[in-house]
Amino acid sequence: MPELPEVETIRAQLAPRLTGRTITAVAVTDPLLVAPADVDEFCSALIGRAVRRVRRRGKYLLLEFDSGAVLALHLRMTGRVHWRAGPPSDGAERFLRAVFGFDDGSSVTFGDARRFGRAWMIPAGTGLREYWRGRVGDEPLEDGFTARRLAELMRGRRVAIKTALLNQALVAGLGNMYVDEALFAAHVHPLRPAGELSEREYRALQRGIRDRLRVAIAAGGASIDTYRDGLGERGQMQAQLRVHLHEGDPCPRCGTIIAKSVVGQRGTYWCPACQPDPTGAAVPVGSRRPRRVREGVSG
Ligand SMILES: [Zn+2]
Repeated sequence: MPELPEVETIRAQLAPRLTGRTITAVAVTDPLLVAPADVDEFCSALIGRAVRRVRRRGKYLLLEFDSGAVLALHLRMTGRVHWRAGPPSDGAERFLRAVFGFDDGSSVTFGDARRFGRAWMIPAGTGLREYWRGRVGDEPLEDGFTARRLAELMRGRRVAIKTALLNQALVAGLGNMYVDEALFAAHVHPLRPAGELSEREYRALQRGIRDRLRVAIAAGGASIDTYRDGLGERGQMQAQLRVHLHEGDPCPRCGTIIAKSVVGQRGTYWCPACQPDPTGAAVPVGSRRPRRVREGVSG
């Protein structure tokens, strides 16, 4: 599932290719993509529009037009945005939902096996700060996202830190994979209450989040299942995941076997030694600790 680094990779590839280009044709082959909007209205709102900027907010990819209107795309589970120098050949995109054609002959396809992805127009004159408020929170790579700010966002929250970090209204763009990786980097157990970390732990977590996102962007995102970048290539971050999907493997830091559990309905991976569970503090490090944590989660 594409998270911030995957969407940012696509954005960075589309920006130089689409900026200044005008949309000359739009075909929506799956009306669900633009629902509840009408397909004809959606298409006619786009044709003739010149792309002023390609941006990202959280996991949303945004094409900003000269008119001030914005096309928002969300890839959800399996969405793929693919730029080509020419039109897509027949069958090039197996789960095609829409094609956007540009004045230089280039095209962008939206393919999506599971069809959870969405596309919609944000009308000109919409205040974007207001538009995202309450839905999309702090951008973790922006300057304002300090350790102090992270602590402030988590203050008073009793939910697990993993669950709080997945809440897009607090911190934007993090998903299951990068939250697991950031918590490991920070030596923080995923079930710790979000508001009860120490100052030092919030600092480590803020650094861990930014570090893992930057490494992932440099690697072009992670292609675990269906993700491909904006040019149809696989990312390389999957080889650099340290705990996520590594159940049963030795921790790359200490050799303890990586544990897996379910937190907030999401498969969650951690090192029982590097990320101790405070509620299991009396249990010696070893095979009993992860089992105890698992029972604690399901019960
Ligand atoms: Zn470890």
